[in-house]
Amino acid sequence: MSAGHREHRGAVRAARGAELSCRGWIQEAALRMLHNNLDPEVAERPEDLVVYGGTGKAARSWEAFDVIARELRDLADDETLLVQSGKAVGRFRTHPDAPRVLLANSNLVGRWATWDEFRRLEGLGLIMYGQMTAGSWIYIGSQGIVQGTYETFVAARKAHEARVPRQGGRWLLTAGLGGMGGAQPLAATMAGLSCLGIEIDPARIDKRLRTRYVDERIDDLDKALAAVEESAREGRPRSIALCANAADIFPELVRRGVTPDLVTEQTAAHDPLIGYIPQGLSLEQAAALRASDPAAYIARAKEGMRVEVEAMLEMKARGAEVFDYGNNIRTCAMEAGCDRAFEIHGFVPAYIRELFCQGKGPFRWVALSGDPDDIAVTDRAVLDAVPHDPDLRRWIETAQQRIAFQGLPSRICWLGYGDRARVGLAFNELVRAGKVKAPIVIGRDHLDCGSVASPFRETEGMKDGSDAIADWAILNALVNTAAGASWVSFHHGGGVGIGNSLHAGMVVVADGTEAAARRLERVLTSDPGMGIIRHADAGYETAIEVADRAGVHVPHRG
Ligand code: NAD
Repeated sequence: MSAGHREHRGAVRAARGAELSCRGWIQEAALRMLHNNLDPEVAERPEDLVVYGGTGKAARSWEAFDVIARELRDLADDETLLVQSGKAVGRFRTHPDAPRVLLANSNLVGRWATWDEFRRLEGLGLIMYGQMTAGSWIYIGSQGIVQGTYETFVAARKAHEARVPRQGGRWLLTAGLGGMGGAQPLAATMAGLSCLGIEIDPARIDKRLRTRYVDERIDDLDKALAAVEESAREGRPRSIALCANAADIFPELVRRGVTPDLVTEQTAAHDPLIGYIPQGLSLEQAAALRASDPAAYIARAKEGMRVEVEAMLEMKARGAEVFDYGNNIRTCAMEAGCDRAFEIHGFVPAYIRELFCQGKGPFRWVALSGDPDDIAVTDRAVLDAVPHDPDLRRWIETAQQRIAFQGLPSRICWLGYGDRARVGLAFNELVRAGKVKAPIVIGRDHLDCGSVASPFRETEGMKDGSDAIADWAILNALVNTAAGASWVSFHHGGGVGIGNSLHAGMVVVADGTEAAARRLERVLTSDPGMGIIRHADAGYETAIEVADRAGVHVPHRG
């Protein structure tokens, strides 16, 4: 794609309101969500079609984007469009309850599943990196990860409080304030933690300041530390961004004997060529080296990760609660010689798996009207449908006050089995009764309880050793297709990079019709139900209890 073409194109933004440009609401929803993923308010580098997560893209090229949009506008209510790595490749007659779009992104046969092979194929224009919600058109900006990050930080804070009981607030050191990582400062303060976030790209910090995800930028380390420590001491959580390389700052803190209470990091380390800036290079110098000598770049990036992870290990030894935040930095650090990298635990086994066992995971929705009032109406519907959950109430009320919408108004909250279907049906009723101004799109991250195989993240340390078995993720995509999701996707390499994960996404549209109600009830039951059967099969007691209580059929339990 030439720069000229990009400049010529202008910004992409989803249509708002109740008027259709497609032949049905599901196609319209897919089109608006594709556009919304690339809205400059939402995407990290929309001019390159990059939505978030290193190079997670919504379409393979601008030409492919145009053809997808044209196909969606022309797609009938009994047809299904096939999208292969961000390019529309076919269209078949199916039936009204079938998904309108099926997407497969970045999938490679195991033996060939390496970044090198991926990049070779990408260079030939044959494949696209879809990350998780970029290539499956359900990214909603940093809010999408705020609640998961909040849940994680609360659990990590409690773990630290149990080990190191004392009065006063606590603070978190992290790095990477990109599309996902940018949720950290806000989630930290919501979780009662002060936060120092190291980010090398000033434009990313500006974006977080603009969207109120971070409170302040202070580039002087002494002053930044003083501000963070003081706010923690006084129990007034505050978030500070510092523009620097994390591989410089983390060891510097060790050298000074400064031990944060909690430590993690969320640079896009899963993609060492793009997602991590080596020490000693400006952004411009990094871009030049990346282009001239990719192998040298990768070696230097991994060396920076080693330095950073060594510092994290030292902070752990000094009592900090240190965890890997799902970007595969431990593997890269180990490849660069840090043998003890995996002494840092992953966040899923430590804090999230218990929720997965209950079929709990990230449930998100988007108001196609574009009217923020519609989200206020749906917020109330969630609290009516799930009345006895004080954490959920606190989350929704705090989100209403503190989260600025990006692109189409949207919301996220973690819901479990049973509640997801109840809420989906309640939303459909709001649309039917005209209490919201247009249909509601319901979807989720691929990072969910029954949709992903990712041994360095979601399925790390499974009880039965089944970490790398991807049958579950494939079954998830298949059952959601059978149940009538609106679009279903299957991706490789999201979160932790090529070779390391396989995962499925689903979106289902509440358009107020009876057919939609039937589909919502089926999809929002089978989808979290996959999480319960996956964890019950692996022997997790909580999942077995939830299956028994909720009536999820697990054949080997009789
Ligand atoms: P991103 O590409 O939008 O942002 C990465 C950020 O890291 C950029 O702002 C970049 O400037 C910064 N950075 C790179 N090298 C740095 C360095 N040496 N020092 C300081 N800053 C540096 O990516 P993202 O969407 O924010 O995702 C971050 C990572 O988290 C990815 O690896 C992604 O796969 C993973 N992820 C985790 C979760 C989760 O739930 N934990 C969910 C989705 C994605």
